Amino acid sequence: MGDKKFGIVIHGGAGTILKSKMTPEKEAEYRQKLGESLQVGYDIVEKGGAAIDATQAAVKVMEDSPLFNAGKGAVFTHEGLNEQDACIMDGKTLNSGAVAGVRRIKNPIELARLVMDKSEHILLSGEGAEAFAQMHGIEFAEAEYFYTEHRWKQLRAAKYQEKVTKADYSQLDHSDDKHGTVGAVALDRQGNLAAATSSGGMTNKKFGRLGDSPIVGAGNYANNRTCAVSGTGHGEYFITAVVSYDVSALMEYKGLSLQQAANMVIYEKLAGLGGTGGLIAIDRDGNVAMPFNTEGMYRGNLLPGQKPVIEIFKE
Ligand code: ASP
Repeated sequence: MGDKKFGIVIHGGAGTILKSKMTPEKEAEYRQKLGESLQVGYDIVEKGGAAIDATQAAVKVMEDSPLFNAGKGAVFTHEGLNEQDACIMDGKTLNSGAVAGVRRIKNPIELARLVMDKSEHILLSGEGAEAFAQMHGIEFAEAEYFYTEHRWKQLRAAKYQEKVTKADYSQLDHSDDKHGTVGAVALDRQGNLAAATSSGGMTNKKFGRLGDSPIVGAGNYANNRTCAVSGTGHGEYFITAVVSYDVSALMEYKGLSLQQAANMVIYEKLAGLGGTGGLIAIDRDGNVAMPFNTEGMYRGNLLPGQKPVIEIFKE
């Protein structure tokens, strides 16, 4: 397997994550779970496995944890439901699979993978996606599984704020811990890149709102010619800025480095539109970028011969 470059990068969401509001116990829990996710993904590529499998496995670990806004810890919609989005993409073939607005899927990233592997479509939504899941024996979970008190309180707070300010949805304050999302990008020893992203979306979302996470090129993108990217932040802006594809395009057409491209998209393009969030990315040479313009972003990477990097706050 030689000295081929490989590695994995993950995130567990960006937002107003302040050290002053974090207890040492909570911080330890986050670090532990991020470390577990990194290790699970790293082990796959380390052993010569595929980047796409590594990203899926790393995301699943975070979906199964109530700490993050995906899978078990998903935020609530205005109606008190959990509607989840996920996408996975293979940088070698440019194949992708995605699901949007699914309510009863325990691990949306697994369903996204199935859409990629077993359907002739890219993006399935709602009940249709769940019918497809049923056909393929994917694990379902009921509403109680997704319920967490913390997220329920966030919904109540968001509704209260909405009533007080009489703001419409687009003007709601999305800045404090109303979102999250998890994601992973990886490079394997064969030189293949992949990206996976899974999200409960944004607290108090309405009208079947979908975010950027299930949209190829917005919240998730991988291309062996350039890089793999997973985003987290205020989805409407990520869709508008076509964030993930833009990082790749800046590398491909303008010859920017990964770091230059990722910084330009987050600090100039996204910020210029008024959008908040961040992204993780890895390129075909194993370079890593993790820019964000929020107070914090749960993030980490693991590369051969190095210790795991796990960070939460703006350093
Ligand atoms: N990007 C996600 C969305 O807008 C939320 C997040 O990443 O926090 O659905």
